[in-house]
Amino acid sequence: TRTSEAEDLPHATKKTMADHLRKYESLFTLTPQRMRIIVEAFKETLEIGLAKHNQIVPMIPTYVFGWPTGQERGNYLALDLGGTNLRVCLVTLEGEGKFEITQSKYRLSEEQKQDDGQKLFDFCAECMKSFIDSNISGGIIEKDSILPLGFTFSYPCSQDRIDHGELIRWTKGFGAPNTEGHDVVAMFRKSLEKYQVPAEIVALTCDTTGTLIASHYVNPKTRIACIFGTGCNAAYMERVGDIPKIAGLGIDPDAEMAINCEWGAFDSFEHENLPRTKYDQTIDEQSNKPGEQAFEKLISGRYLGEILRLIICELIDEGVLFLGQNTYKLEIPYSFDTAFLSLMESDPTDELLMIIGIFTHFFAVETTLAERQFFRALAKLVGRRAARLSACGIAAIVSKMGYLEEGCAVGADGSLYKKYPGFADRVHEGLQDIFGEKGKNIVTCHAEDGSGIGAAIIAAMTKERKLANLY
Ligand code: BGC
Ligand code: MG
Repeated sequence: TRTSEAEDLPHATKKTMADHLRKYESLFTLTPQRMRIIVEAFKETLEIGLAKHNQIVPMIPTYVFGWPTGQERGNYLALDLGGTNLRVCLVTLEGEGKFEITQSKYRLSEEQKQDDGQKLFDFCAECMKSFIDSNISGGIIEKDSILPLGFTFSYPCSQDRIDHGELIRWTKGFGAPNTEGHDVVAMFRKSLEKYQVPAEIVALTCDTTGTLIASHYVNPKTRIACIFGTGCNAAYMERVGDIPKIAGLGIDPDAEMAINCEWGAFDSFEHENLPRTKYDQTIDEQSNKPGEQAFEKLISGRYLGEILRLIICELIDEGVLFLGQNTYKLEIPYSFDTAFLSLMESDPTDELLMIIGIFTHFFAVETTLAERQFFRALAKLVGRRAARLSACGIAAIVSKMGYLEEGCAVGADGSLYKKYPGFADRVHEGLQDIFGEKGKNIVTCHAEDGSGIGAAIIAAMTKERKLANLY
């Protein structure tokens, strides 16, 4: 049995901080039974998304057919437009699961995320152009060659071919106008032409689909891929015959196609299945997309720090914390980075010196040891809930596909997965709470750069299919 975190607080202030902590413990703790109920609802939602078009969880057919052989070869460009950065990569696939990569990263400003969509793609094209130019002068890219480009665009797009996709909705705080409802490949192509970039978009993909393919390239036991980063999502491989909504297209029912679940949208609008606290509701209401991405808002790196900040602000208002101190810096929305939660959880010192540092440096407030222990315990509650909800999503796919007995690998990537201490362990613990001992058959592993390598492999697979005159 787990002892309450509240018991560990020092005696003097134990009473008040412990009482508060107990309250949050009950708000943020997910019992195994509750998790199993969520898994059932999740499974149903996945099925509905496969059966009908335009569902809340859209279960997007990606037109990525089957697994890579590992023999894919050649030079490919990849452009990764994620939630935080823009990355341009040159990937050389060498076969036998081997590759080389050269890349440059560019930071996206908050203004760029809200500015006109075509301008965003213009910026992507400009970055691509300067990347290519410097790699031509460095002798890595041949002059006058036109390279095939895999475009990793990690937002929900509905696709009817691999080189086409209409943005359904922005997520992760993006809001660039004149993009939703438009074909983002056509938009990006226009920008590439404008800047005379010698690249040809052959495939549009999402980071999850890329991760699925890249993970399988190095580990053939991979069946599912997840991203736990600024946003969260999963992809897996489905039999075409089991995707009723595309039954009329004449594709071989025994072929396999990757599905981009866009599971971040689970429980949006109706909010019937997930345990949302009032902090989660506040985040939702104050976001640029109220009602949407309900699952993602409880899990992803964009929001975890904000959840903690809202709790702290509530306790400031109640006069429990920082009495007589100026707390204006803590009152700025999104000022509490999720990276602070990672740091707080991993502080190895008895005095919790790293937590002192965070609060004095970034927020100009003094903390007592009891408060720091309380903050650390809060971070743990918020981080643990995110991991356990993630386990529910994975469990829904595992259970739907019947992967439990045989077991499988789940390729995972994203800042939360890579950097948040104990996140993977908590996901695994969650899977065991849901499935019992057999939960151990499902293992997540850090995946090799799905948005770069994955996009390149998908571009290579697409070229092969074109040569063979397939769909
Ligand atoms: C997007 C997904 C993406 C995920 C992780 C979500 O907000 O809708 O397309 O895979 O973030 O980046
Ligand atoms: Mg990314």
